[in-house]
Amino acid sequence: MEDKFKKVVSHAKEYGFIFPSSEIYDGLSAVYDYGQNGVELKNNIKNYWWASLVQMNDNIVGLDSAIFMHPTTWKASGHVDAFNDPLIDNKDSKKRYRADVLIEEYCQKIESKINKEIAKAKKRFGDDFDLDQFTNTNERIIGYKEKIESITSQLAKALEGDDLKSLKKLILDLEIVDPISGTKNWTDVKQFNLMFSTKIGSTAKSSSDLYLRPETAQGIFVNFLNVQKSARMKIPFGIAQIGKAFRNEIIARQFVFRMREFEQMEMQFFVKPGTQKEWYEKWKQNRMAWHMSLGLGEENYRFHDHIKLAHYADAASDIEFNFPFGFKELEGIHSRTDYDLSQHEKHSGKKLQYFDTELNESYVPYVVETSIGLDRMFLAVLSNSLVEEPLENNSSRIVLKIPSVLSPYKAAILPLVKKDGLSEIAKDIYNKLKAEFNIIYDEKDAVGRRYRRQDAIGTPLCITIDHQTLDDNSVTIRNRDTMEQKRIAIASISDEITKEVNLKNWLGR
Ligand code: ATP
Repeated sequence: MEDKFKKVVSHAKEYGFIFPSSEIYDGLSAVYDYGQNGVELKNNIKNYWWASLVQMNDNIVGLDSAIFMHPTTWKASGHVDAFNDPLIDNKDSKKRYRADVLIEEYCQKIESKINKEIAKAKKRFGDDFDLDQFTNTNERIIGYKEKIESITSQLAKALEGDDLKSLKKLILDLEIVDPISGTKNWTDVKQFNLMFSTKIGSTAKSSSDLYLRPETAQGIFVNFLNVQKSARMKIPFGIAQIGKAFRNEIIARQFVFRMREFEQMEMQFFVKPGTQKEWYEKWKQNRMAWHMSLGLGEENYRFHDHIKLAHYADAASDIEFNFPFGFKELEGIHSRTDYDLSQHEKHSGKKLQYFDTELNESYVPYVVETSIGLDRMFLAVLSNSLVEEPLENNSSRIVLKIPSVLSPYKAAILPLVKKDGLSEIAKDIYNKLKAEFNIIYDEKDAVGRRYRRQDAIGTPLCITIDHQTLDDNSVTIRNRDTMEQKRIAIASISDEITKEVNLKNWLGR
C-alpha cells in the first residue's frame, strides 16, 4: 500500500499533475500546485460535479461567493468558538500531533493485526475459509475488536465532552510513543483553532480581523435569500458552489488528502422542516450514484454513518473511499437542520425565512448538505487509475485508466512519421477537432513511445495517421485500456471521440 502511494505521488509529479508548492524554496508543507495535466483533470472533475447537480436539476443553481466574509459570519457559524482540533506536542522530538489522530492510528494498528490474522487463516483454510465464522470465533480477533471498541468509545466520550485531560490520559494509558523520538514524553493536550486569520485595510486603526473561509458553505447560507428571491426558487431547492477553503491543519500528511489550502464542492439543499430525513436519504443515494457512474469500483466505496453528531446536525454520513492508505472520508452528507440560517438571523438581525405559498406561512428552511473535497476526489481518481500492466514481451506499461470523461486529453493525434505529408494531414485533423475537444498533437519519437506517453497521462484514444491514410482517408484509432486498434474514416473521428467522452453517456449510467 505504501509503495503504491509513493508511486502515485511520483507519477503525479513526473507527468505534470501535482507539484509541491514553491518547490525551488523546498516547498510549503501541505500546499500543492496542479500542473498542466492536473489542472485539466481537476477542471473535468468540477464540470462533472457541476453538470450533474446544476445543469441536470432545474431546482439547483450555482453561486461563487468571496473567500473573505464579514468576521461575524464565523462567530455565527460556530467556527470562532468551536472549530478546534486537540493538539499534543512531544517534548523530545518537538513534533506536534492531533491527539485524536494518534489514538485513531493506534486503533488502525490493531485493525491491521486483525487483517494479518485473516490473511493467514485464508491461506490455511483455502476454499473452506468462512470470514464471518472466523472473525466471530477466533479469540485473538475477538480480543482485538473489543480493545478497538473500548478505545473508540473512550475517545468519543472525551471529544464530545471537550475533556482534554482524558484524551491525554488515554494516550498515556495506551503507551503511545512518538514515531520520531520513540518517547512518551508528551505535553498536555490543547485546543487549536484551525482558521487562518488576516487583516483587511491598510492602516492599523482602520484594519479589522478577517478569516480565510474554512468552508464554502457559509457563503451559500448568507446568500440564501438573495438567490431565492432573484431566481424565484421554490422550496425544495439547492445552491451549489465550488471554491477554495483554508484550514491550518495540525498534521498535514498524505499528499493532497489533507491540505492547508484546498477546494470544496458543496451543495446546500433547502427543504421544508420535517422533510429533512427523506431528503437526507435521497441525497445519500444520489451522491453514491454519482460516484458509481465513474466506475472506480463499487468495492472502493462505503458509507460511514456518524454516531456522534455535530451540534448542528440531526444525521450525518461520510462516503469513504479506499485510498492507498485505507478507507477514508471523501465526502460528507449532513442534515444540518435550521442551525446555520437561524444563527445568521440571530447575529445579523435580518430575517432569513422563506414564505411558503402553499402553507401560507414563513419558516426557516432546514438544510441537507453534500460536501466533497475536490482534491480528495482527484486523489481517488488518480490513485485508483494508476496501474502497471505486464505486456506479452516481458515488458510492462504504466497506464492511467482514468474515466475518459475526466481525462486531461480526449485524444492524441499522431502522424506515424513526420515525412511523406503525414504530419500535414495530422495537423489538419488536429486543427479541425481542437475547438470541439481538448486534444493533443505529438510527432516526437517512435509511435510506440508516444502511445506510452499518452497511456501515462490517461488519454483514452490515440489516432494515428499512416501511409494508408494517403490512399483511403482512414486512420487507426487505439483504445488506451484494451490497446486494440481499428481503422476508421477521418470523417468519423469526431463521432468516435464523442461516444467515448460524452457527459450524457457517463452521467446517464
Ligand atoms: P476530516 O475529518 O478528514 O478532517 P472533515 O470532516 O473536517 O474532514 P468537512 O468539514 O466535512 O471535513 O469537509 C467536507 C469535505 O472537504 C471533506 O469530506 C473532505 O473531502 C474535504 N476536506 C476537508 N478538509 C480537507 C483538507 N484539509 N484537505 C483536503 N480536503 C479536505
